[in-house]
Amino acid sequence: MRETGFNLNDPELLRTAAFIDGSWVPADDGASYLVTDPACGRTLAGVANCGANETLRAIDAASAALLGWRNTSAKERANSLRRWFELINASCEDLARLLTAEQGKPLAEARGEITYGASYIEWFAEESKRIYGDTIQPGSNNQRLIVLKEPVGVVACITPWNFPNAMLTRKIAPALAAGCTVVCKPAEATPLSAFALAELAQRAGIPRGVINMVTGDPAKIGGVLTRHAQVRKLSFTGSTRVGKQLLADCAGTVKRTSMELGGNAPFVVFEDADIDAAVAGALASKFRNAGQTCVCANRFLVQDSIYERFTSALVAAVNAMTLGRGDEAGVDIGPMINADAADKVIGLINHARTLGARVAAGGRRSKLGSTFVEPTVLTEVTSEMRVCREEIFGPVAPLQRFTTEGDAIALANDTRAGLAAYVYTRDMGRIWRVSDAMEYGIVGVNEGTISNEMAPFGGIKESGHGREGSRYGMDDYLEIKYLCMGGIES
Ligand code: ADP
Repeated sequence: MRETGFNLNDPELLRTAAFIDGSWVPADDGASYLVTDPACGRTLAGVANCGANETLRAIDAASAALLGWRNTSAKERANSLRRWFELINASCEDLARLLTAEQGKPLAEARGEITYGASYIEWFAEESKRIYGDTIQPGSNNQRLIVLKEPVGVVACITPWNFPNAMLTRKIAPALAAGCTVVCKPAEATPLSAFALAELAQRAGIPRGVINMVTGDPAKIGGVLTRHAQVRKLSFTGSTRVGKQLLADCAGTVKRTSMELGGNAPFVVFEDADIDAAVAGALASKFRNAGQTCVCANRFLVQDSIYERFTSALVAAVNAMTLGRGDEAGVDIGPMINADAADKVIGLINHARTLGARVAAGGRRSKLGSTFVEPTVLTEVTSEMRVCREEIFGPVAPLQRFTTEGDAIALANDTRAGLAAYVYTRDMGRIWRVSDAMEYGIVGVNEGTISNEMAPFGGIKESGHGREGSRYGMDDYLEIKYLCMGGIES
């Protein structure tokens, strides 16, 4: 089924079939499922509802393509990735429209995501030429010890709906740069952005079988990807609950894994902070993508002496935000991905209220529809409230008080998550003390926007392992092979 309501400059970017071995193919039984617009529920497209058999064929295609792809020169791989990057940039507007339609975020943010997602392809195109091995001093002159880096092989990529473009490019780009081939399973809600990327990859000349995409039943597709011996690695971004399940499923074949799981980011504002900068950082970190970001500030820890000042500045800024459809001009916050997600957020707000939190801004579902939640600020929040203990994944800023630096650190670390944390202070000593004490993979210091292709993104504790982006991001797709060469002196 084709839909024409997107007004794409390039209608061929709207793909609805699975992408296996360089061909667009329907599900074996012809089944499809509907992708809808979260802003209003309208049907956008019917998309191939695949299962185990299509996934097996995608793995076969990726396995068959592996030898050829890993044997291309790094420079050839870099050139292919570079062409893909350029085609994505040239189609930025169409890709952003597709993304907003299926995901809901404001068009300006969608354009930003396309550019951000493409930046990983550019970065890893460049990095592919800089995969270095090592030589090691031997214990005897009769030996030479050499370390080679090799691609891990076929990689499964399972990605979420919150960044349907960038979460995929962050995985596919380093995988391809390293010489791996991939089978991707995009989130059910947002396959159109993924398919458009595959279409452009094909146009860029990336050979058939190197990138495959299967959409449909997560458990059936995931069951094959995690248990198949030819798949040597799983790179997953999603919830901690599903990530733990997939880790267990990967144990049977001892797969390498990269896990980007949920967070519970503290945003700590000390009394010496630049309050305007802290509010700007809070808005960027908390309300981008309607709060549906794993590095989103989840809890604001604000020092007693500036609590009222920070609160009133944040409330004024939040009240000035415009909620609406992502494709309407002037909108700052779009809908949540679906009504269940909005219900969960409203439930968290209500739970906090019953335990004594005050609503300083927003606090309700909007009249715009079942997926729209008003940007919300809660004050007098305490640690036992679910809003502090769970990942909110919505536009709600809960403000907790603290008195001393030690209290702030203890509160910040009181979670099993460890993805991102934010600290606002102008005291250089405190910056180092608090950054050192933070049990997190990423710390934003006087900065609310921390993610870019040059830096290592990833968490510790139950937020996962592995890093995406940066030179470290390539390591996740490389194996080490050690050559011990003897008989040199004979
Ligand atoms: P979110 O809360 O962001 O939707 P999920 O962890 O549910 O996070 O989803 C992230 C990705 O994991 C999606 O592509 C989803 O389809 C996939 N997924 C969910 N359950 C499974 C499963 N049992 N096997 C494989 N993939 C799954």
